[in-house]
Amino acid sequence: MASAATHKRKNMKESFGMTTDGAEVGLYTLRNVYGLEAGITNYGAILVSLMVPDRKGKFSDVVLGFDNLAGYLNEHPCFGATIGRYANRIAAGRLSLEGKAYQLTRNNEGNHLHGGLKGFDKVIWIAAERKSAIGPALDLRYVSRDGEEGYPGELTVEVTYTLRDDNELQIDYTATTDKTTIVNLTHHSYFNLRDAGATDILGHKLTIDADHFLPIDQSSIPTGEIRTVKGTPFDFRKLTPIGTRIGQRDLQLLYGNGYNHNWVLNRPGQLLTPAATVCDSTSGRMLEVLTTEPGLQFFSGNFPAGKFGGKGGKTYPSRSGLCLEAQHYPDSPQHTEFPSTVLRPGENYLQTTIYRFSII
Ligand code: BGC
Repeated sequence: MASAATHKRKNMKESFGMTTDGAEVGLYTLRNVYGLEAGITNYGAILVSLMVPDRKGKFSDVVLGFDNLAGYLNEHPCFGATIGRYANRIAAGRLSLEGKAYQLTRNNEGNHLHGGLKGFDKVIWIAAERKSAIGPALDLRYVSRDGEEGYPGELTVEVTYTLRDDNELQIDYTATTDKTTIVNLTHHSYFNLRDAGATDILGHKLTIDADHFLPIDQSSIPTGEIRTVKGTPFDFRKLTPIGTRIGQRDLQLLYGNGYNHNWVLNRPGQLLTPAATVCDSTSGRMLEVLTTEPGLQFFSGNFPAGKFGGKGGKTYPSRSGLCLEAQHYPDSPQHTEFPSTVLRPGENYLQTTIYRFSII
């Protein structure tokens, strides 16, 4: 990595454009002592860019997305976004809490996905830059009203991105509510460690520290089974190229159109052992994911080539980015055997997830 002395820490804010309602949105740049740079907008608390060096010290953007706000205002697969109030799916958007039934927005094949039609990825957050002892930080705050997308309770959410001086992007989340509700937040960057999304990620090697995963049905809802990964294409306990088994005849790969499943992490609740590791031998970049969450959704970016435009007028090929979304399990409200996502008044939702960069 480049030496700390060669880079001056300079953080800044500029305009990122205007929403269709005429609201001005900012682009905040965090820069650490090694010159790593994170571009974050307060629209959707989205990570727009992340500049990380390769083994020769050449910086390149390791996340997919758009150059300007207009791209993010159009339909897109949650590039870089903060997802809530509930990341992932809830079958038929059905929620029952303390004997009361709620209907959440059904925005994905009759199911609720990523917080509904206007989730946390499409709202304006209040942003404040801050210098912390571990690196430059951006605090983002959003108050979700009682009844928004069908959820009960006014929820106050705070997300902090810290670009740590030890080359980790740390994301801390907190939330409180005034009525019993559910919360499941995640980060939705599509990583490509090789070439900013010019080619696919099938040659990237992956580990996931999980002995089990959650099989899904045809509409991507977990069946409730917690299945061993042993002997399946879902076994990433050893470093394996993502493309090795993705084309296998396997009902789960067919339902997900590739990988689009939640893994049951072996060591939830701690930040000591990586939940996942991604390596790209061409660039030498390595990414480790550490999280306090019990689950990890690995999505291999299974949309067709060119479906969503990209930065610099580029067209992203199919599977040109991979998501490692730390979260609670999908459809938890309908599975009492899954870790609970219920948040009550007086309680504090807490999550920390770290994306750590180094060279192999
Ligand atoms: C989901 C995919 C979805 C994508 C974009 C992922 O987290 O698992 O099914 O297409 O997000 O919304």
